[in-house]
Amino acid sequence: MSTVVTSAFPFVPATISLANMASTYVPADSYTRLLRLFGRDAVHVTGIDVHSQFVSTDGKTRDGSEAFCSQKCLEYQRAFESLNIQFDAIARTDETHHTEAVREALQVLLAHGAITQRQISVVRCDGCGAFPAPRLTESFDFARLGLEGDGHAGAEPRCPYCRAHQFSDVLSTHYFLVLEPYRNKLLAECERVVRVEAARPLIRSWLAEPLADWNISRDNSIGISLEPQLPGKSLYLWFESLIGYWSMARLAAANPKKFVHFFGQNILYYHAVVWPVLYGLCYGGGASDILAAVRGLVDKQRSDPELLDIDQAVRSYPPDYLRFYLVWSGTDGLTDVRLTRATLVDVVNGILCDSAGNLLRRLAVLLQKRARAGVQLSSEDELVQTFYKVLIPALLQAMDEALVGKCLRLILDYVSQLNRMMAAERLYEAESAAVNGRIAFMLATVLTLLSPFVPRLVEEYNIFVGWSPRSLADIMRAAECPLRQEVGLWKKLT
Ligand SMILES: [Zn+2]
Repeated sequence: MSTVVTSAFPFVPATISLANMASTYVPADSYTRLLRLFGRDAVHVTGIDVHSQFVSTDGKTRDGSEAFCSQKCLEYQRAFESLNIQFDAIARTDETHHTEAVREALQVLLAHGAITQRQISVVRCDGCGAFPAPRLTESFDFARLGLEGDGHAGAEPRCPYCRAHQFSDVLSTHYFLVLEPYRNKLLAECERVVRVEAARPLIRSWLAEPLADWNISRDNSIGISLEPQLPGKSLYLWFESLIGYWSMARLAAANPKKFVHFFGQNILYYHAVVWPVLYGLCYGGGASDILAAVRGLVDKQRSDPELLDIDQAVRSYPPDYLRFYLVWSGTDGLTDVRLTRATLVDVVNGILCDSAGNLLRRLAVLLQKRARAGVQLSSEDELVQTFYKVLIPALLQAMDEALVGKCLRLILDYVSQLNRMMAAERLYEAESAAVNGRIAFMLATVLTLLSPFVPRLVEEYNIFVGWSPRSLADIMRAAECPLRQEVGLWKKLT
């Protein structure tokens, strides 16, 4: 049974920036790697939503949008690769395995009586008959879809598709997911689903009032069709995205048991209110199977532009420096963060290079110099005991709450402790197989624990031949490995 770590789906035509990497993809990727370090069966999944109304050029279908969608998908793949974000499954929402899973879920909900249908008033363009979403009529980036028009049309709403400015209110039948019957259950279980305390007052305020039915249909054929029951209508993309967590998990060949969702706080309602209801009704899962690892967003206005654009950022900085910085700066809570060059330089130079990098380099060089004296590591060593009895349980506890930033801080506290120990115990002077064993243990543990955050960088200081810092279970074996003579260097930013 797998833990399924999910990253919120990017939706075409959105652009993925380092802000999305900070709130979602880097913490999720690091978290999955952490779980695996501890021997847990974990997969990381996401999907690419291609059913947004923003993709359509006529407001009714996806005709003619394929080239644009494929280009955006490639762009997303490149963004993920540039920061070494790995997925066990990533697929588009128009792929059959996903659309079938969504239809199955819908059937279950209909059979369960969880969906009601009724007429509502919607706004139709008199010119072309499309039903543009309100924000589409007010501000729409026409050029992005290769359409003519000036976007941001000012005071007078215009149809983004035909530019008409006459609209009519018409009655239209829609599907609604009924949420109110689950309100008390959601309230009782909200602490289990959302461990981020700062998010709970908001969730409780939503749950203090009767929950409105959730409209899951749209007046177009852009998403998954609701024919024949609702002619000319399709499913709302957010319904698909949530069910997509399940369909992508199955694509990863996982037997989904526990879901840990990484996403930014602007989509908390879907994850803390709607998804637990859907998951329970469609898949029989309970609140203990869902952890909503909501995170603050990046304050783009107060961030440096070069640190938002991924291409530009990876041209200027090693990707692992960026990964480290994003996890370190991002809170495990709802506080918004600013990405600035000044803080990046401080964090990378002061913490990553000075504190961790220097320690690793000193340990590696020291071990290379005195390996002749032999390397003997005893599991009775006090440092080994403390590592397994104090640090590991603390990390496990933080992991159970998906607190990625806290895990990194615990690991860096351990690095500081080792730095102090290097000075206090004069490891430089003492030369014995037991001291060498201790040095090997320090090196192996820090490389291993940092590997989820800076997976490529740790190899610079990995001098153990035939050993890889990818599993806690492998740490004691490092001391038995031959050593290579070269050692790298994490260079400071200037
Ligand atoms: Zn129109």
